[in-house]
Amino acid sequence: MPYRAWFQCINEQCKATYPLNSIIYRCTACGSLLEVQHDMQTLGHRGAKAWMKLFEDRYKSTQWPYGSGVWGKKEWILPKIADDNIVSLYEGGTNLFWAERFGRMIGLDNLWLKLCGNSHSGSFKDLGMTVLVSQVKQMISEGAPIQAVACASTGDTSAALAVYCAAAGIQSIVLLPKGKISIAQLVQPIANGALVLSLDTDFDGCMRVVQEITRDETIYLANSMNSLRIEGQKTVGIEICQQFDWEVPDVIIIPGGNLGNVSALGSGFLMMRDLGLITKLPRIVVAQAERANPLYRSYLKNFESFEPMEAQKTLASAIQIGNPVSVQKAIRTLRQFSGIVMDATEQELADAAALGDTTGMFNCPHTGVALAALIKLINAGKIDRSEHVVVISTAHGLKFTDFKVQYHEEKLDFPCRYANKPIELPPTVEAVREALKNALKKRREQNA
Ligand SMILES: *Cc1c(COP(=O)(O)O)cnc(C)c1O
Ligand SMILES: [Zn+2]
Repeated sequence: MPYRAWFQCINEQCKATYPLNSIIYRCTACGSLLEVQHDMQTLGHRGAKAWMKLFEDRYKSTQWPYGSGVWGKKEWILPKIADDNIVSLYEGGTNLFWAERFGRMIGLDNLWLKLCGNSHSGSFKDLGMTVLVSQVKQMISEGAPIQAVACASTGDTSAALAVYCAAAGIQSIVLLPKGKISIAQLVQPIANGALVLSLDTDFDGCMRVVQEITRDETIYLANSMNSLRIEGQKTVGIEICQQFDWEVPDVIIIPGGNLGNVSALGSGFLMMRDLGLITKLPRIVVAQAERANPLYRSYLKNFESFEPMEAQKTLASAIQIGNPVSVQKAIRTLRQFSGIVMDATEQELADAAALGDTTGMFNCPHTGVALAALIKLINAGKIDRSEHVVVISTAHGLKFTDFKVQYHEEKLDFPCRYANKPIELPPTVEAVREALKNALKKRREQNA
């Protein structure tokens, strides 16, 4: 294939470049993060219509690996990788649905939910991990000294890394903050054979350690500061447009923690615009938990300064991050996309997730943060009733049953407005009949 891609320093004054098979996570000249750049001129030789047709022809087909939502866009991701080295579990291709009833409840006619959690390991992290692990397999086949791949994680990154490495037969190592992730997220890397290291610290502490450990070239770093992850994750925006027949939504809301995913979302849209597939850009909203909201605080100061904070315990455990590695990329994206940042309290995120569930969703707490941010922006008049809005749901609700159980048992330290407790009864027809009569009457009154 004639297409080419390389790592490039994001610092405008530096722009140093490195080949994709170098074991490198930051610019060696200036220390900034890197991003993958593509030879846009050569990609431009194929017209916009032809790209759209190619992507549509491949979408969800069984033509391996192009039926994957990520590898169907291979030329825009890692054009040079050998198909034999691609480690794919047919990620992407997730459902995008019209949340009609919830939208109406909160005052929107055209609200959609993109369910990135309906994926092999249950979160959007699969989109990036397929690319990173494939490139590792390629480098190993070329003789690179990599013996294992490691990440720090708030749960979902480690689950994705472990499962893709298991599929490839590569050893994974995960560093987790002890007691700060859900049971499902802990058991995923355990089941998939990762070396699981449970550290008595928070995510930011794990991140510091893993950056040191991976100075040794035999252990490759899989966190999203490695921009290979971003290349896969950027397909989410492309896939959303494709699902809307290449129409661009007005607003996209995404929960943010380490802030790699928001820059990935932006990067997919910029590529579509630069290659002529679309002519406008959406507004992007990053939603943060109030207890881990360093980007929101910076937004309030027009991004003139950014101060890391110590993240407090939040139900949205996958975004409990106080010192996000990709903050500079995220700010750049928000400036390009008329960005907004909004935060949500514990009660707001839990109630929003639960209210959504009553309309047929099954939200993880991070999606709850995004829904709560949406409600607040509508109430503040910053999103209009007629706008076409997409909320990115980042993980499957079943990974967070502990959160849902606590909510519905009213065991959280705030009132749980939509708690729905099971009714315990003796096993007799009379008892059930009597209980139903009362309960159904109560429901009718509530819904009236
Ligand atoms: C990783 C993750 C996020 C945050 O993504 P970042 O790229 O770190 O901002 C949000 N929600 C879920 C469920 C996640 O696993
Ligand atoms: Zn540099």
